[in-house]
Amino acid sequence: MNPSFPDTVKLQEKWQKQKGSDLFNPNALQIDIAKEFMLSYTHQFRVNLGNEIIPLEECLGRVLASPIIANMNVPSANNSAMDGYAFSSIVLSYPSNIELTIIGKQMAGQATQQELLQQFAPNLHCVRIMTGAVMPSCCDTVIPQEWVTVTPQGITFDPLKIQVGENLRLQGEDIRLGDEVLPLGRILRPSDLGLIASMGFATVQVKKRLTVAYFSTGDEVIPLGGEIREGALFDSNRYTLLGMLTQLGVRLIDLGIVRDDPLALREVFSAAANQADAIITSGGVSVGEADFTKKIMQDLGDVAFWTLAIKPGRPMAFGKINTSDSSAVLFGLPGNPVAVMVTFYQFVQDILLHMSGANHTPKVFRAKFDGTFSKKPGRTEFIRGILHRDESGDLWVKPHGHQGSGILRSMSEADCLITLFAPQSQIFHGDQVDISAINCLI
Ligand code: AMP
Ligand code: MG
Repeated sequence: MNPSFPDTVKLQEKWQKQKGSDLFNPNALQIDIAKEFMLSYTHQFRVNLGNEIIPLEECLGRVLASPIIANMNVPSANNSAMDGYAFSSIVLSYPSNIELTIIGKQMAGQATQQELLQQFAPNLHCVRIMTGAVMPSCCDTVIPQEWVTVTPQGITFDPLKIQVGENLRLQGEDIRLGDEVLPLGRILRPSDLGLIASMGFATVQVKKRLTVAYFSTGDEVIPLGGEIREGALFDSNRYTLLGMLTQLGVRLIDLGIVRDDPLALREVFSAAANQADAIITSGGVSVGEADFTKKIMQDLGDVAFWTLAIKPGRPMAFGKINTSDSSAVLFGLPGNPVAVMVTFYQFVQDILLHMSGANHTPKVFRAKFDGTFSKKPGRTEFIRGILHRDESGDLWVKPHGHQGSGILRSMSEADCLITLFAPQSQIFHGDQVDISAINCLI
């Protein structure tokens, strides 16, 4: 191990003391400590990522480089929430039906009419008003048109039908001038684009996109369009990675499939580090193979090989590949298709988001466990689950029937991953469990 990598065993002991558990095997790194280390190791990439100003149309999924501060009130003025009649609530104290004369009309987009304000008598008059139209300052309540009777003189309505201030949208009730509307590090969502537009901002300062290079390794791995032969398989990992990375909004460099050949691997690692901020590989890090891959990686950078206390996804390489003038973070994921997805969702996603400048913690939910499950204590297991609700509306999660780490189909059929924590050995029917999203970023 390169000396610039802290001794992971020592790190783990420290962590064990802090958390006070004796269940942990120092040769099997716990997920929390691995993640904690990866976050601090990659912090410099987060700090050094530049900013750019881009049109709002291109901002979906991008990370805010500075907070959005409201430059105006939204709505900009008090306005009507309904098509109806604006009036002064003074008249609501009258015991019987109210009769008001219509003295003017206020349409959406029209400025306040001064002559109307001057003529208005609060106990006699109302103003015909449309949804979104500015509320005349002499009025404070809107009665919807459906609730009035129109007479030759004006309108009549029952005062019990309406309360003071109803059907009025207040100036600044959505956004108040000076508010921090969206924080630094926010990953912009559809509603955010609308919110930014509602203040009239046409461009936004965002973080530059992270560039991620990825490739598959293995002599048995065949590209799409190639001919399948006995013992070979089509490259599915690169497509799973393509999907997961696309949802993170990073720039992608697809470097294809690399043979289990030291020279070829060395070349691709260097090429990848030249172009990218992060490199993701699948395969070639299991016991045996790892020694050979490890050697190349260590020659090129700063790489630790970890045996993680998780299932699936035990072996994993993590570190940096250096070039003469830059470096890229490396995630060497296992080859098994399910392990690729689990390690991505448990580690890579959080770290790439961290490097991207995002302040985003993927959400964890709770559900009742439908079934029973036994596991070895000491490692965290991720199992694929299917959600359903019972008659009383409680959310349940049932383990998928096929949990093999090569069974990608159950990853497609599942709704979520269920986390079974390291100390647990037996999960009973009805136990509350943590669940997290797969196949999307939430
Ligand atoms: P490895 O970690 O290289 O020993 O790979 C473990 C297993 O994962 C292999 O035996 C393959 O079955 C599978 N595998 C490796 N790479 C890929 C890939 N790119 N696409 C689909 N399956 C793969
Ligand atoms: Mg392999």
